[in-house]
Amino acid sequence: MKIYFYGGAQEVTGSNFLLESKSKILIDCGLVQKEKVCSLENFLPFPYHPSEIKAVLITHAHLDHIGRLPKLLKEGFRGYIYSTLPTKDLAYEILLDSQKLIEENCREFNKENLYQKEDVEKLMLRWQTVDYHQKLNLDDLEIEFYNAGHILGSAFIKITQISSDYTQNRGKLSIVFSGDLGNKGKSLNQHLEDLPWVNYLVLESTYGNRNHQNLVNRKEILEEILEKVIYERRILIIPTFALERAQEIIFDIQQLIEKKKIPEIKIFLDSPLAFRISQIYEKYHEYLNQESAREILTQGIFNKEYLTIVQTKEDERKMFLASEPKIILAGSGMVTGGRILKIFKNYLEDKKTTILFVGYQAQGSLGRKILEGEKEIFLDGQKINVKAEISTLFSYSAHIDQQGILEWLYPQRFNLKTIFLIHGDTSAKQELKTKIMDELTLDVIIPEQNDFFEI
Ligand SMILES: [Zn+2]
Repeated sequence: MKIYFYGGAQEVTGSNFLLESKSKILIDCGLVQKEKVCSLENFLPFPYHPSEIKAVLITHAHLDHIGRLPKLLKEGFRGYIYSTLPTKDLAYEILLDSQKLIEENCREFNKENLYQKEDVEKLMLRWQTVDYHQKLNLDDLEIEFYNAGHILGSAFIKITQISSDYTQNRGKLSIVFSGDLGNKGKSLNQHLEDLPWVNYLVLESTYGNRNHQNLVNRKEILEEILEKVIYERRILIIPTFALERAQEIIFDIQQLIEKKKIPEIKIFLDSPLAFRISQIYEKYHEYLNQESAREILTQGIFNKEYLTIVQTKEDERKMFLASEPKIILAGSGMVTGGRILKIFKNYLEDKKTTILFVGYQAQGSLGRKILEGEKEIFLDGQKINVKAEISTLFSYSAHIDQQGILEWLYPQRFNLKTIFLIHGDTSAKQELKTKIMDELTLDVIIPEQNDFFEI
């Protein structure tokens, strides 16, 4: 088999890998995202002809893993896409919702839209679903999806070459594509499954150089932050990804209120997308951890008593006029676009504001700049002096940390031949590489963009 690293190798976005055996298949086909939701690189031709691709396997529904699928179809792809059932539903919402933001970027680039609504509809006709552990055969390959515990429906994918006789080790030649791997201790999702018997691994390393603090007691830390906000009558702004993070945090805040750990506080979710996604969470509650699924079944994922979903101009007005303390959650999570920009314009210069970052902020994103302490930023050409307090609670990250990765690899240390590290900043990959080589004595490669390896 040959494996080509076409995207997501040097950067954390635009995931796209090609595996060539009897036929060519892709693993993920994501959007390249830097300062903008959609970078100019997305308009470059694919390094393969889309019509040669037999199938695309999708690990999960984040835009950086699915965003170039409509382009692939428009440019000649005639195969099928495979993912879990929730991933298909989530992908539909994410692709449609992102279309407006992508369109704005395209206009700035003087480019035609990357895709239209009809392209997404057409894509869905070619989208098949498989359940976790339901084996799928494509020519000489056997494919199995495992729960990656990252977001609803997320998977890491094991591909086995059935025709191979891999006598060097017992079993047949196999490779796992990790996609994004989930963190421990989350309220909604099931855990990341154990790594099965495997020879090669393409592994994400977003947090390869750090360990999340307070994985277990993150709810208590959230409680402390909220108590301060309530006591000092502050405005808490959480830039959040509409998919998973919003549901997870609101679920935890509601639990704190319901268990009377904190007083009631007004929560505004300025993201209709997050609301639509929540309905998908309710629909697929059996994919969630059992305790949360039970609660979701009885009262829904959002309790409307405390939470206002900002859908109309009037809702927005109420959000801005509401007295403090209040919590506002809005996208995008890295402050690269969306409703959070307007909210930042209103509140960043106010000392009574607390900004809470709960997820990864890519290099070049506005979120990263604010997080790194820049005091002067520009929003739509308008200079803003950042006076808000900046806090972080990265244990809400949907990504596994260094210790988690090492523990996940450990049981397979004698079977793994090579690990390819992708999807992380250079320093994260370097540090994780050293750590894996030292502690597990495994061969680790950091591929460059467009590299290929024969396995
Ligand atoms: Zn992801």
